[in-house]
Amino acid sequence: MHIKSAEFVMSNSDVAKCPKAKLPEYAFIGRSNVGKSSLINMLTARKSLAKTSGRPGKTQLINHFLINSNWHLVDLPGYGYARVSKNAKKTFQKFITEYFSQREQLVSAFVLVDIRHEPQTIDLEFMQWLGENGVPFSIIFTKADKLKPKAILRNIEAYKAVLLETWEEMPNYFITSSSNETGKDTVLEYIDTLNDN
Ligand code: GDP
Repeated sequence: MHIKSAEFVMSNSDVAKCPKAKLPEYAFIGRSNVGKSSLINMLTARKSLAKTSGRPGKTQLINHFLINSNWHLVDLPGYGYARVSKNAKKTFQKFITEYFSQREQLVSAFVLVDIRHEPQTIDLEFMQWLGENGVPFSIIFTKADKLKPKAILRNIEAYKAVLLETWEEMPNYFITSSSNETGKDTVLEYIDTLNDN
């Protein structure tokens, strides 16, 4: 897919106020600092469509972007950032839960995972929750440029081993790097295919 246009539409914390248009929608979510903003900027070839974070955990809103006038890319807040207050965490959980359970336009979520780390409970629990709630998702491994190919394979195998304890099969996944654009075309083609279905 060629990205011809990418525009910010709105930010809010209330799923009821999200855009009414019945356009297919893809939500990007992951731990703070996982590289979500960089990935969104890479995918859309816009330098600062999503703000890359000086301060992780700052953007606690649902951000809608309209891509090629025919689908929405949704930038959701990063989770698992220790320095936000308990109240902020509760509010976050509430609107994220509401977003995923109520947003009919959502075609698929992309859960971002830093390829360098061992499987983290918070990510596994989040994927589990998506699965239990029938939300389709793929995993996007980020920052692949930071590891050698062998280490990438080893870490993905480790992830598979943990996921297959609870999942029948490994969820669909992508290996990406925003630094060298690894995975860009594959992710965009995947979205294109889903948009056509
Ligand atoms: P967010 O908090 O998930 O939106 O993460 P950001 O996109 O702001 O990135 C967090 C940090 O990781 C920044 O210092 C980025 O420069 C760095 N980063 C993000 N993606 C990559 C990547 O693909 N490769 C490398 N080497 N660094 C990355």
